[in-house]
Amino acid sequence: MACEERIRASMSCPACNRKIDEATAIQEDRAKPMVGDISVCLYCGTLLRFITVDPLRCRIMTDLDLKDISPESYAKLKFIQARILGDISK
Ligand SMILES: [Zn+2]
Repeated sequence: MACEERIRASMSCPACNRKIDEATAIQEDRAKPMVGDISVCLYCGTLLRFITVDPLRCRIMTDLDLKDISPESYAKLKFIQARILGDISK
């Protein structure tokens, strides 16, 4: 079940450097991310991983990170990424 609660953030995407001021959980029943959780930049579609939560900071996911996630989660991430990149090209 998706959680509609959003959390405030103050960080920049390490890939596109756009300011990220909000995060929303799309799958879990909690909105607050934990270290190691995965995110997707809504500006550039880059897959990110939270490295701290107070303050909220993330880094670009590596190939090694991608090996740690389930095929189902990977498929969801790629779907979200494709939607973002499709929106960008419109
Ligand atoms: Zn970005």
